[in-house]
Amino acid sequence: MAEPLHAAIAGGGVGGLTAALALARAGLRVTLFERAPAFEEVGAGLQLASNATSRLRALGVLDPVLRLGLAPEQLRIRRARDGRDLARLPLGPIAELRWGTPYIVIHRADLLRALVEACAAEPAITLLTGATVMGFAVANGGVEIGARRGNENMRVEADALIGADGLRSHLRERIGLGLSDQPAWSGRVAWRALVPTGDAPLFARKLETGLWLGARAHLVHYPVRQGELINIVAITEGDWRANDAPDLWNIAGAGAAMAPSFARWHADARGLIASASDWRRWPLFDRSPARRWTIPRVALLGDAAHPMLPFLAQGAAQAIEDAGALGDAFVRHGADIDAALAAYQSARVARAAAVVMTSRRQGAIYHMSGPMAVARDLVMGQMSPARMLAKMDWLYGDPATDARPR
Ligand SMILES: Cc1cc2nc3c(=O)[nH]c(=O)nc-3n(C[C@H](O)[C@H](O)[C@H](O)COP(=O)(O)OP(=O)(O)OC[C@H]3O[C@@H](n4cnc5c(N)ncnc54)[C@H](O)[C@@H]3O)c2cc1C
Repeated sequence: MAEPLHAAIAGGGVGGLTAALALARAGLRVTLFERAPAFEEVGAGLQLASNATSRLRALGVLDPVLRLGLAPEQLRIRRARDGRDLARLPLGPIAELRWGTPYIVIHRADLLRALVEACAAEPAITLLTGATVMGFAVANGGVEIGARRGNENMRVEADALIGADGLRSHLRERIGLGLSDQPAWSGRVAWRALVPTGDAPLFARKLETGLWLGARAHLVHYPVRQGELINIVAITEGDWRANDAPDLWNIAGAGAAMAPSFARWHADARGLIASASDWRRWPLFDRSPARRWTIPRVALLGDAAHPMLPFLAQGAAQAIEDAGALGDAFVRHGADIDAALAAYQSARVARAAAVVMTSRRQGAIYHMSGPMAVARDLVMGQMSPARMLAKMDWLYGDPATDARPR
């Protein structure tokens, strides 16, 4: 019997770990390099829409994820100034019925744990932590990867290399995309906090995702950890990049600095913000879509390929879609590695670009003020739940059948 193909993956975030599973299920042997000493996710909660959970189901990892996550009953959208309901998107069983698998919210660490456990149970996958991919060379029909682990320099030969190394991807630069294509500063900062549920206002304890829209700011909250914690993300506009080095990320930030953005908001929203004490701030970047994610033997995946603003809550979901498509491409093309990588690229580039661009637009819509905001609220208020669900089919449904935004 022929030796299985060997794929190396740089990066053990949601994208890299899901890709490891997908490639192993497609019959490849996989070595995954993660530079951190342990698999861990900074940040707090994550919404995973049905387009992601359907891929997780196909990889056999949805059940453990569902045990750790929660399925919110609805997305409730409120106007910041007076707390008035603007719209409600039914989720829960309705989402599952419409899109085939549930829409869930989960702590990032819980999702990562489920993925790491599934990879560890798969004999074809080797997980290496504390191992940084330093470079690679494509030669002799394969790819030689140079990595550093502790004081040890490693050389590993593989048939393909997947760059799942995140927003500031080293591999992206190495395949010739990096220099002309720096991350674009969005002018927005995400402030994130977790609050013990008992400390949060009653309205925020419900099994729902709350979205508040204000001028130049918005707020999202939902429960995680079996309802023990409330995850809060507050997005403000500002010039943090002018004050800070551009790559500051996950910095402890005094909550007082963001408070003025919410000073004229409804008391419920202010109460929720006041209930959190430990805020972390994340300056937000994306990149304009690239048409090419591959060179022979090497492909990018997840944020390395298409970092996006979080306003559709789709970055991790798109990384999961990438991983599924990569596995499918190897199933279809077998040992023809370059054909598999080309098929992966053509299956994914347009879809991911549409999500990147729609996320940008969504941010602008969320932060409208004055007459534009009045018009937005009117349109939202008149939209029936059925119409709202239909508008999400392109994103949460099967991308193979309906991939365009409406
Ligand atoms: C405020 C905010 C809220 C968000 N909310 C959502 C949401 O609700 N739903 C959603 O789907 N998405 C959301 N996202 C997006 C999501 O977090 C990311 O898109 C997703 O985590 C990207 O996963 P990734 O595996 O591609 O990259 P990363 O998670 O960045 O993982 C990259 C990994 O590569 C490792 N690495 C880097 N360089 C090397 C190297 N040279 N060698 C080895 N390892 C290396 C890093 O240590 C890291 O572990 C949000 C993002 C933000 C900022």
